[in-house]
Amino acid sequence: MNAYDDSSQRFLFDEADARGECVRIRHSLSDMLANQVYSPSLRSLLGEFAAAAVLISNNLKYQGRITLQARSDQAISLVMVECSSERHIRGIAQGDLASEAATPLTLLAGGQLVLTVERDAGQRYQGIIALEHASLAEALEQYFSQSEQLGTRFWLASDGEQGAGLMLQQLPEQISEADLRAEQWNRLCILTETLRPHELLGLPPEELLFKLYQEETVTVYPPAPILFKCRCSRERSADAIALLPESERAEIIAEQGDITMTCELCGEVYRFGPEVLAPHNIRSTLH
Ligand SMILES: [Zn+2]
Repeated sequence: MNAYDDSSQRFLFDEADARGECVRIRHSLSDMLANQVYSPSLRSLLGEFAAAAVLISNNLKYQGRITLQARSDQAISLVMVECSSERHIRGIAQGDLASEAATPLTLLAGGQLVLTVERDAGQRYQGIIALEHASLAEALEQYFSQSEQLGTRFWLASDGEQGAGLMLQQLPEQISEADLRAEQWNRLCILTETLRPHELLGLPPEELLFKLYQEETVTVYPPAPILFKCRCSRERSADAIALLPESERAEIIAEQGDITMTCELCGEVYRFGPEVLAPHNIRSTLH
């Protein structure tokens, strides 16, 4: 076990208007993948989605969460990973979970990528792009080039055991003049282009950053932990049951003795007895 597993690390270029983030997910990824039997291709795809979700969530300026979701009518109908401002991740894929592809993103070919930003206080923002790219990193770069004024680049890798990613992002003009700014950004992107997936997955973050940016002055911030944690609860399950017609609830209780709800994302089982037949009783039976 390495100290940098399951952490996200921010870095700042002291002499350029740019910052970056480096993420490594191992145990939280295996926890996330433990509830379904996924093919190696899907494990890799979910690993890249998870690394990307954590990188994007670091842009959240308030309590909330981002959801990166892809839908397609191919073998894989859904890939979803959510990351909160506390860096709690959870995710799932649906469809033919045994599907394999040399380039995992092709399992979602012709689909759409939806990025949702939700604030705990209520506001919600959603952006959509068509998935017609060779990689998730390219799709995200196009998404950000359409929605942000500032340059954003992604490098993502996963071997199904680990997910890793690096994001570079331009900052608003502070240090550099316009001409120099473009040149600096270009140089940082070219340096980062030398990064190989096995380095992203294998090198300790500090070593990785030194290898890429040894000519630059970089401030590296302490790693922030990432955890697999589901948001399901007995209360939410009760709310979902309350949406069923009373006759349907009665039928299930008559046949099975209770109503069982299993969370697809974490495997948690919530069981409700005959008391759920009276809708106003649902909440009061929780405690
Ligand atoms: Zn759950």
